[in-house]
Order: sequence, then structure tokens, then C-alpha cells
Amino acid sequence: MYTNIKTILTDAAEKNYAVIATSAVNMESARAIITAASEKCAPVIILLGQNMMHNHAKAELIVPLIKTLASYTKIPVAVCLDHGSSTERIMYAIKNGFSSIMYDGSLYDFETNMRKTKHYAEICHALNMGIEGELGHVGQASSGDNLKEDLYTRPEDAREFVKFTGTDCLAVACGTAHGEYPAGFVPQINFDIIKSCKDATNGMPIALHGGSGSGDENILKAVKAGINKINVVTDVFNASRDALKAELDKNPKIGYMDLMARQEEAIQNFIKHWIDLSGSEGRAENFTNPENIFMLGKTQAVGISE
Ligand SMILES: [Zn+2]
Repeated sequence: MYTNIKTILTDAAEKNYAVIATSAVNMESARAIITAASEKCAPVIILLGQNMMHNHAKAELIVPLIKTLASYTKIPVAVCLDHGSSTERIMYAIKNGFSSIMYDGSLYDFETNMRKTKHYAEICHALNMGIEGELGHVGQASSGDNLKEDLYTRPEDAREFVKFTGTDCLAVACGTAHGEYPAGFVPQINFDIIKSCKDATNGMPIALHGGSGSGDENILKAVKAGINKINVVTDVFNASRDALKAELDKNPKIGYMDLMARQEEAIQNFIKHWIDLSGSEGRAENFTNPENIFMLGKTQAVGISE
């Protein structure tokens, strides 16, 4: 069933587990993610980034595909604009059927970030969409932003931010960054920031960005500390690329459809492992209340389970 991140993450925060949020760039990756989540009976969030849509998969093409796949499974599936940063991009996502927006005002000063996040939260809530805001700044691993403590979220600001903006989820900066770390580097996550933000916001859903390259142990501890949404994109793209390379090395004359099938299988296995880390296996069972169903009719939403 197609739903928004508020529905998914409210349950995750109440029951202390996390949901995987990852990107789909084509039919194979979208189907692999939703199939893996369906087999694990886990809710899942599909992130579509602004650059990704600009450079590769336009929302007009990819969103209907994801919504079709979502209509064939009972697990909750949300499509969330990742790091939306302008009215133009946010309206493009709304027009194209996204159920959720992550608004990133983290490069603005605190007051401006609050004001803008509140503005977009009001729009999203009027449309029954979910919204995530960011406090602190999760930067790029290539710039070493994960080590810059002045970019980390200040838990003392979290309460005011959440209360003022009405956001449904809070992305925090606590030692991870987007993209790839230097070879062999494992980020040091400040779990106290996660715990303190959770406490300061009365249990608000908290998101970890830059989950790729963090290592299983860090992810398990982050979930225990209070993370409810784990963004992992670079690692799934790499797993997909590596699967293609391994198959081609093994059998350079492999049929194209067989090659795609092997790649899809690799993405499924990757997603299943992260679902295990997140604690979301079996949690789709929590979403049987028809009130949770968004945008699709009841008949479709509770119909076929893959
Ligand atoms: Zn991010």
C-alpha cells in the first residue's frame, strides 16, 4: 500500500525500530526494494533525490512505477523527496504524486530553517503528506563533514525546532555523512545526540542520513539509541554495480535479461540485510488499520500480498 512517512515512522518511533530508506532509479531497483521488503513484511521508504531525477529518472516515469508496485503489496511504501531545497522542487514532487517530502533547510541559520520547514510542513499536512526536517547539517563524506562537530545537531535546539515547525521526522547530524568515506574508514557516531534529541522531542521519529559505510555495528547501535529512519543509498548503488561486474566477469556473454535478474537479486539481498539491521522485519503487520491507507482504495491496498 502507498502511504506517507508520517504513518510509517510514527509506528517505528512508538515501537522502537527503524525503517530503511533507499533509492530506486529504474524498474529493477524499485521492484527489488519492494519485493525484498514484502518478503520481510517490512515497511519501506523510497527516496528520490533532486539530482537523481534531474540527471536520470524523472518523477513522471519513476513515481507511477513505484506506486504500481506498492499497489500489489500490503506493506507500507512511501516515496519521499530527498533533500528538497526549493519551492520549485517541492512543488514538482507534490505534482508528481510523492507522499512525503524531506525539506533540507540545514544550510540556513536556525531561525530561517525553522520558518521555512514550518512553511513546507503546513503545505504537506494540508495534502496529507509527511515531512522531514533537518537540524544540524549532514554534509559530504568527501569533504570530511562527518568529523566537523560544529555541524552536529544541538539537542537543546531540537525541542523548539520540532514544536515550531510541526515536522513529522527530524534528521540529525551526529557523525555520518553522504557518499563514500575514505577506504577503511568507519564513522564514529555520537549516539548521545540521537538519545538526547529523542528525549528532547518526546519520542519524535529521528532519521540517520549517510547510513552507507557505517558498518553493521553502528547501525544496530543507532537503532537502539532511537533512530527510526535509516537512509542508505551509496551502498545499495555499489552493491548493484558490484553484482553486475561480478556476473560479467564470470560470464561475459550472459544474456541481458539474466544479467538484470542477477542484479535485482543482489539488491534484494542487500535490502534484506539492512531490514534485519533496522528491526523492521514483520512490522508491516502493524499497518492493518484502513485509516493508514493513503491515496489508494481499500480494495487495492489490502489486496495481493507478494
Ligand atoms: Zn541525506
